[in-house]
Amino acid sequence: MDNVLLQMDDLKVSFQTMQGLVTAVDGVSFTVGRGANLGIVGESGCGKSVTALSLMGLISSPPGRVEAKKLNFDGRDLRQLSAEEYRKIRGREMGMVFQEPMTSLNPVFTIGNQVSEAVLSHLKISRREAREMTVAMLDRVGIPDPERRIHDYPHQLSGGLRQRVMIAMALICKPKLLIADEPTTALDVTIQAQVLDLMQELREDMGMSMIMITHDLGVVAEVSEQVLIMYAGMVVESADVGSIFKHPLHPYTQGLLHSIPRLDQDVSRLDAIPGMVPDMLHVPPGCRFANRCRQAMDKCRRQCPENCEPEPGHRVCCWLYAS
Ligand code: SF4
Repeated sequence: MDNVLLQMDDLKVSFQTMQGLVTAVDGVSFTVGRGANLGIVGESGCGKSVTALSLMGLISSPPGRVEAKKLNFDGRDLRQLSAEEYRKIRGREMGMVFQEPMTSLNPVFTIGNQVSEAVLSHLKISRREAREMTVAMLDRVGIPDPERRIHDYPHQLSGGLRQRVMIAMALICKPKLLIADEPTTALDVTIQAQVLDLMQELREDMGMSMIMITHDLGVVAEVSEQVLIMYAGMVVESADVGSIFKHPLHPYTQGLLHSIPRLDQDVSRLDAIPGMVPDMLHVPPGCRFANRCRQAMDKCRRQCPENCEPEPGHRVCCWLYAS
């Protein structure tokens, strides 16, 4: 069996807006192995969520347009799938957990009903079997007294429990890939750690691959093996998690790491990255980070940097490393 589960090559996603064409994702490429765990990090608006939505076939066209040289999942070309074929894969083979469960859960149905429907829409089983699977899955994700709580409505649960329900819904069909988009951002810090631990544990138990999308480098430090750093629609650096933290190459990644508070540091001296992300309607011709980069050279403002690999497995898109 091919050890690569997902291969994306040169993904471009653009949207026609009233003001003009916005290319939200511009040339993103990565692979995810079976059982592997990739983190995609960047500020909001950098294209990380749009990347995930295009993978799930959830970008409406029009106004969106998705193009890629390659978009293969488990031996299939996702670009060739009909809407119905995509619907079968979504939920069954690819699960997704979003940031805010209240916007994903339907407030008028019980949680038991919603998790059961997720199974019934993909597997040919009876309602009774679906209910048994639902109780077992809610138990597995740490919902106390699941036999009773399947009758609860989303508003009767805490934020942490609602996120556990979302994880149960995403995993009940045992997908090969879980895409988690800021799954812990809306939660308290202690609950965040519990939910991340749970996702890691389930991923290992099920031998599933995971893509963790986050603005928080602390989250990828905890759960990811490989990391992509995105900025203004492009991947600017990629490496294993250890290299990203010990030896970040791109000035943007370095800036992100310097802006994380440390216990031994005076927080009033945190080093924030100056300036703003470029307007995606008017992307500058050279490096998209140039207006915020302390090491910018003339060439950076004229020419888009090449993607190079100064260390084995560690890629960066920056003129400082081009030979
Ligand atoms: Fe900075 Fe130039 Fe590298 Fe861009 S290419 S990150 S502007 S040094």
